[in-house]
Amino acid sequence: MRLIHVAVPVPQLGPLTYSVPDEFPDPAVGVRVLVPMGKRVLTGVVVSTAAEPLPAGGWRLAKDRGEQARSEKPEASSPDIKPIIDILDATPFLPSDVVTLATWVAEYYACGPGEAIAAAMPPRAWIESERHAHITEAGRAGLSAERGARRELLAALNVAHPVRVDTLLGRTARHATLLALERDGLIEITHPLRGQASAYRTTRIAALTMHGHEAMEGALKLGKRQQEALALLKGAPDGIESAELNGRGITAATIKRLTELGLTTIERRRVERDPFQQGAALPASPSVPLVLTVEQAAAFDRLSALAADGTFRTVLMHGVTGSGKTELYLRLAKDVRSRGRGVLMLVPEIALTPGVAAVLRCTFGDRVAIQHSGLSDGERHDQWQRIRRGDVDVVVGTRSGVFAPVQSLGLIIVDEEHDGSYKQEESPRYHGRDVAVVRGRQAGALVVLGSATPAMETFHNAQNGRYDVLTLQRRVLDRPMAAVRIVDMREEYAAAGPDVILSGPLSEALADRLVRREQSIVLLNRRGFATNVFCRQCAATLECPNCSVSLTVHKAARRARCHYCNYAMTLPKACLNCAGPYLEQLGFGTERVEAEIRDKFADARVARADRDTTSRKGAITALLAKFGAGEIDVLVGTQMIAKGHDFPRVTLVGVISADVGLGLADFRAAERTFQLLTQVAGRAGRGEIKGEAIVQTLYPKHYSIRHACRQDYVAFYHDEIAFRRGMKYPPAVALINAVVKARTREGAMADAGELVTALRTGGEPYRVLGPAPAPLVRLKGEYRAQLFIKGTNRPAMREALQTILAARPDIRRRTIVDVDPLSVI
Ligand code: ADP
Ligand code: ZN
Repeated sequence: MRLIHVAVPVPQLGPLTYSVPDEFPDPAVGVRVLVPMGKRVLTGVVVSTAAEPLPAGGWRLAKDRGEQARSEKPEASSPDIKPIIDILDATPFLPSDVVTLATWVAEYYACGPGEAIAAAMPPRAWIESERHAHITEAGRAGLSAERGARRELLAALNVAHPVRVDTLLGRTARHATLLALERDGLIEITHPLRGQASAYRTTRIAALTMHGHEAMEGALKLGKRQQEALALLKGAPDGIESAELNGRGITAATIKRLTELGLTTIERRRVERDPFQQGAALPASPSVPLVLTVEQAAAFDRLSALAADGTFRTVLMHGVTGSGKTELYLRLAKDVRSRGRGVLMLVPEIALTPGVAAVLRCTFGDRVAIQHSGLSDGERHDQWQRIRRGDVDVVVGTRSGVFAPVQSLGLIIVDEEHDGSYKQEESPRYHGRDVAVVRGRQAGALVVLGSATPAMETFHNAQNGRYDVLTLQRRVLDRPMAAVRIVDMREEYAAAGPDVILSGPLSEALADRLVRREQSIVLLNRRGFATNVFCRQCAATLECPNCSVSLTVHKAARRARCHYCNYAMTLPKACLNCAGPYLEQLGFGTERVEAEIRDKFADARVARADRDTTSRKGAITALLAKFGAGEIDVLVGTQMIAKGHDFPRVTLVGVISADVGLGLADFRAAERTFQLLTQVAGRAGRGEIKGEAIVQTLYPKHYSIRHACRQDYVAFYHDEIAFRRGMKYPPAVALINAVVKARTREGAMADAGELVTALRTGGEPYRVLGPAPAPLVRLKGEYRAQLFIKGTNRPAMREALQTILAARPDIRRRTIVDVDPLSVI
């Protein structure tokens, strides 16, 4: 009996073993199969065939799962092993290197392989049982040459619409025949969701038949519209889309009639959705090629030589903001592509992607694909299929793009590698940058990690020799770095009272820019109008009923909202506790800053970019395009405006409360603050005119703020690594965080305590901290307690935790395991 191991998208479930009935061909790794699991039928992906050993890993996960446990060496005769129901693909849906990568992710991040594989899948790949078969051009042409079952099947498909495979199989065909026809290119199988149209978009195309050509000669009596239609179609041997015909006054009814007369055909043709057409026009790349600076040229030569080597290497490209890193990525991508290898470029945020994608498009034409979560499912599906077919050799994408099925990968670029959005905060909790490095190792590719403010982990790896380093210390064209000025807000409060939002120096600087018609960016990394509603009579604050946080006031929407669970209520007029009418709004966010600036500078054109104003698809792109076109004077926003954008007319950056993040109980608080301030200061003075940054803070002496103002990364690194070493935090040690959720605080603490006790066996090669209430002790209605495992042997730490969780399935179901956590809330 042939056995295969299959990953199904069920949380924390290991690979399952199934048998392959005799009538099926051998399913290769990466092929999708339909499998029974309990009473359900699921799509799974073959992760290994029995001939190969099971992928290594801590998959002791399935044992207690009841439905079907995997045994180390499945007995061929075991009654537990069920047969697969069907094979969905003739050739692997996922290439085997992507399966291998997902397998690594499952092991390293301690999740089920199906979850990791799901992260690598395009939308609409997990189906229940619906599949559609379509005949291809080759199929139509070859129909008469076929015999027997093949011919019967092709004939059944020789219709204008796709046919459900289920009905087809019930009627005439055998599955093997179907797959054989697909392999020979005579039919195509698509996988629409049950009850939905094809995952591909199709349009109806009308074309002239031989008969139609003859009819033009005048033998047939036709109406005026009908004649017009034929005349139009005569000039279009490939046919004309029905939408276009419609635009020219020829209705579907006319074409239908002509088709009935045998003069035209109507065919459905697949069209690809093109995400590049969306969003506002972006600046095209300059027509005159830039002359690289001396630093750039040296960096390019080294990178190009490494890429030519064709072996795995990771290089940190540490270049100050405005040093021309993007230009280097582009040239390197061209270089690698000209050697016939694929390029994958990861960018942090959707807001950044359209710009980079547009530049790449200019350079590589339609050999570029784009993968990010801002695309519709349909667009993502189409783009993914293009990559998979090999129609594309440059892919730009966000975090999940790291799994894109690029062929013969030679270069992976991770732009702004320090960015927090590379870490997925739901299972699988992987870090896109770290997965990129692993993928590079597996593919024998060059990996370039670029940043002005590298993550502590990355610079640490560069210091200890795991990564190479390239440094770009100067901005292009010898543009100076922005001059940074610190405003001590304690002095401002003393002078002007505690309600000051815009300090004197920042107000003056803004006024100055408005007069000079230059642009400004104002950053506050906190959205909303006020952060707190406080009753002056009974001192109650307005809290979220589900989470242990206060609700944020959103004034325009007249609502108070929880930023963790999205609970919202109408702003109350009186205290909910004592009914007192004296409600005060404390603290402030971007909405308030925007109002303040509008108030102070009535003529200024002010806009705001945060999650509230940019949730609509395409909104951020449109807003940034407007800013780029000079239609906005002052852009207020959260961290989303601090990143990579290049606006040459911005000469002032104001930071309202530089210390927003410093109060958080998070060992990365200083690093985040340093990165945010350095990055946002780097937005100023990227054009001809020198820039200035003004940083308002209550802690002007804090090392993260001091070093950011001098843009001195290395000094910051040394201070910070000393702190991490002293406190035994990453990158000095490896860290695993487990959060246990329960209905009560006591329950959560008790369960976490049980895990801690079990982890402390005596002589364990790691330290266990906790249990402790999580910083956000209540979230979405659940209480949360956490523990930390610290040590240098990550596999031992992970395995200890997984073994213990496997023995306590009731706790495991409520436990989040985060390997290399980025934020702990
Ligand atoms: P970084 O990504 O390092 O912050 P960018 O790549 O965005 O910097 O470059 C900043 C600006 O300088 C861009 O407008 C870019 O087109 C321009 N630029 C890059 N290299 C050169 C060069 N060699 N000569 C002139 N301008 C350059
Ligand atoms: Zn909430």
